[in-house]
Amino acid sequence: MAMNDQTLLRYSRQIMLPEVDIEGQERLLAAHALVIGVGGLGSPVALYLAAAGIGRLTLADDDDVELSNLQRQIAHGEADLGTGKAESGARRIAEINQHCTVEVIPERLEGGVLERAIAEADVVLDCTDRFSSRFAINRACVAAGTPLVSGAAIRFSGQLAVFDLRRDDSPCYACLYGEDASDEALSCAESGVIAPLVGVIGTFQALEAVKILSAAGTPHQGLSTFDALNGQWRNFGLRKDPACSVCSSS
Ligand SMILES: [Zn+2]
Repeated sequence: MAMNDQTLLRYSRQIMLPEVDIEGQERLLAAHALVIGVGGLGSPVALYLAAAGIGRLTLADDDDVELSNLQRQIAHGEADLGTGKAESGARRIAEINQHCTVEVIPERLEGGVLERAIAEADVVLDCTDRFSSRFAINRACVAAGTPLVSGAAIRFSGQLAVFDLRRDDSPCYACLYGEDASDEALSCAESGVIAPLVGVIGTFQALEAVKILSAAGTPHQGLSTFDALNGQWRNFGLRKDPACSVCSSS
């Protein structure tokens, strides 16, 4: 499918990058990203993916927008209070890029619905804040061989990891955290979070997804952590755990 003049102009600042070029933009326009959680991380993820020209986005979230969300969940505004976050995110995307096809799933993805949604996607962005959700998403991504871009932000600490599960030698989220990890450490409702931190990490997730979908560069390796209080990033190597209960070949 050839891009018309308007489309070429809209994405011209990306197309002029030799690592993307016309072919990379065409790959983005043909791509389908699944965004699970449209909160602090999912907001910048969804907005940047739509603006960058990802052709199809699925937004999944079972929560409604609350007043305490507006401090950091920038896809939502005061007029969206009480609306489902996935629906609210889709409305904001429609204002940014009418050509982006958005599917809304206003429920917590579980079981067969989760597996099907992940199998249909070219990349999955985990923007949830529960270990139980993260492990289920990871298992489905490993089973489907779908790349997983994982982000987390709490208090002043953020982290990002990309699991390129198209590759047999890729580690998975369960290689990093055993599946017995508890949900307590993750919740912004209980622990608090400084607002722009979710933008830093969510935008990093969006960038990695755009790279994967356009085939520009190489996916992020290992685990990156960000300490916002002193502004320092660290990167840790991450290898496939041969004893991993999820991704080790049986
Ligand atoms: Zn694993």
